[in-house]
Amino acid sequence: MTLKLRCDEYGFECDFSLEGEKSLELLEKLRIHFEEEHGIEYPIDAIIQMIVNRGHSLDSIKK
Ligand SMILES: [Zn+2]
Repeated sequence: MTLKLRCDEYGFECDFSLEGEKSLELLEKLRIHFEEEHGIEYPIDAIIQMIVNRGHSLDSIKK
């Protein structure tokens, strides 16, 4: 299952988006983007929570 992540859904005025296989690797890419482009270091658990809060099921992601 693919997951599409848009930076502006997470409170930034930014047109960055990611789309790919739902995986921890994809979330890690978003985490790196937040860190490098916005200077905010979220723990990966916070990213996971953000995705879940947007209604995405993350059953298939193994921590
Ligand atoms: Zn961004």
